[in-house]
Amino acid sequence: MSDLRDLYQEMILGHSKSPHNLRVMPEANRTAQGFNPLCGDKVKLYVKLEGDRIADLSFEGSGCAISTASASLLTDTLKGKTTAEADALFEEFHDLVTGKRQLDEAHNELGKLKVFAGVAEFPMRVKCATLVWHTLRSALSASQETVTTE
Ligand code: ZN
Repeated sequence: MSDLRDLYQEMILGHSKSPHNLRVMPEANRTAQGFNPLCGDKVKLYVKLEGDRIADLSFEGSGCAISTASASLLTDTLKGKTTAEADALFEEFHDLVTGKRQLDEAHNELGKLKVFAGVAEFPMRVKCATLVWHTLRSALSASQETVTTE
């Protein structure tokens, strides 16, 4: 288990140093911003929604290693998924980082997102890991204020 933990820690550090999908997306039709005052993490999420499918995802932001790696892995994992699949993954992810579900019970759909299992041991960091997910939910919700051009 400690080898696995080291590997997961390396993956989180790797993604925080060179995050994937870190760019502004002018063609996005949904955006939302999130802020975690506990740690100072900021994220802006860009979503290109086609029907109910997430065609493309990117982000900008500044924050700790966990929040940056979480945004990097979320944008990687959810590209091409439907909004319903994204919601289901959010539930799974939330259960994992809050310790409601153990790593060996985690669903395979989580894929690389399982690297955040160790966050469950650090309750202060749960919001770092989930910030980008809450931001996604806000971007996808009908009540968000950004006007779409379609
Ligand atoms: Zn943080």
